[in-house]
Amino acid sequence: MITVSKLSKTFKSQGGDVAAVKNVSFTVEDGEFASIIGRSGSGKSTLLGLLGALDSPSGGSIVVGEKDITKLHDHALIDYRCRKIGFVFQNYNLIPNLTALENVMLPMEFAGVPKSERHPRAFELLEQVGLDEEQARRKPTRLSGGQQQRVSIARALANNPSLILADEPTGNLDSQTGEMIFDLLHSLARSENTTIIAVTHDLEIAGKTDHTFMLQDGVMTKKR
Ligand code: ADP
Ligand code: MG
Repeated sequence: MITVSKLSKTFKSQGGDVAAVKNVSFTVEDGEFASIIGRSGSGKSTLLGLLGALDSPSGGSIVVGEKDITKLHDHALIDYRCRKIGFVFQNYNLIPNLTALENVMLPMEFAGVPKSERHPRAFELLEQVGLDEEQARRKPTRLSGGQQQRVSIARALANNPSLILADEPTGNLDSQTGEMIFDLLHSLARSENTTIIAVTHDLEIAGKTDHTFMLQDGVMTKKR
């Protein structure tokens, strides 16, 4: 379970302070799929960055499992990012000179998984997201956008995270492919009991998730 309480983030900038996330509280249970909707600039990416411990909040807490991740430091923080969280981005963020297989193996390498285990697990994950062996050996530029996003989902799953954070994962895809990617995330949430929090513009997709939260100028309201 993830419990966010009174979370806020204010950026200090020359033009004045920007309150990007204001007093946000919500809960998502293990294995649930939550979507976050809201206009550009409403604080969605800032919130995901806080949940992934890429940035630290100005106030509030984020309890994942039993730990308040806003209080982690050094090794514990790196460990959290590496093992507990999987990220999926709009532009896939795959490493271009590595094959799909190597991209999926990389986070396992960071986590210290032996090479003999990395290889079969990466193949298995790619198969789970719908890529065959030949496609697994291609570099990202030789895969379609939808296939690249499948690879990035396989990579996000590599270390069995308890939470997947996806920032507009279908933003670069046509609506049909986008729907397939969301269905894939949905089935993974079910089969792996992974919690998923995804930002989306697509209200139809958001309507199919377990919860929909809306951000407006950093303030969250629950729609469902
Ligand atoms: P969204 O993802 O919903 O489009 P963001 O979280 O990216 O919104 O941004 C929310 C607000 O915070 C915006 O006003 C944006 O300009 C501001 N912001 C985001 N990151 C920074 C930063 N590093 N420094 C200053 N302001 C920022
Ligand atoms: Mg954003």
